Amino acid sequence: MKIESDFNDIDALGDDHIGSSSDTPMRADAFELSNSEKIDIIKDDVRHILETLGLDLNDDSLSGTPNRVAKMFVNEIFGGLNPDKKPNASTFDNKYKYGEMLVEKNITVYSTCEHHLLPIVGRAHVAYISNGTVVGLSKMNRIVDYFAKRPQVQERLTIQIVKELQNVLGTEDVACVIDAKHLCVNSRGIRDIESSTVTSEFGGKFKEKETRREFLDYIQLDTQF
Ligand SMILES: [Zn+2]
Repeated sequence: MKIESDFNDIDALGDDHIGSSSDTPMRADAFELSNSEKIDIIKDDVRHILETLGLDLNDDSLSGTPNRVAKMFVNEIFGGLNPDKKPNASTFDNKYKYGEMLVEKNITVYSTCEHHLLPIVGRAHVAYISNGTVVGLSKMNRIVDYFAKRPQVQERLTIQIVKELQNVLGTEDVACVIDAKHLCVNSRGIRDIESSTVTSEFGGKFKEKETRREFLDYIQLDTQF
């Protein structure tokens, strides 16, 4: 049957973690509901899932779960869907005339696999070469966190971080490497605890072998303090 095989294809696509676009697929009416309206709807949906699984929602331990999960989805782990939460793009002139590479490494990544809604946990390493504009160091962490707080595909997350920094800094010379564990791979399915996934996106000068090498060497540095 055609419909069934289409569903199977979509399922297989998701299980292989293949993403389709660098933009998060959003509907045009994504923000017509307020956050509190979304929480009310999702709360009922979560209750429905738990009840369908046969759980007794009158139990003290479970009674608050639907509301807790709904608030967590909207305000926290998927809060980065809302463009209002995007870190503002304040930049500075590069007063020191520092023209070398700047690397912010080991940025903590907490995201959610959009195929299974299970956590992606890892580290992002971000670099740029200033063309006269710089950003505060914590801005790079905030940009990573903003795009991580969505249902995600790791490849898309990597590209979104690079594109945003290219925009903010006005240069193509931006790179990002993410090394992360996907709990959908580690805890279910193939149950491979050790494996992690590395994705990279290299813009501008980072496409050149030497610049890329320098960036990757910095990432390897074991920083002690
Ligand atoms: Zn997954």
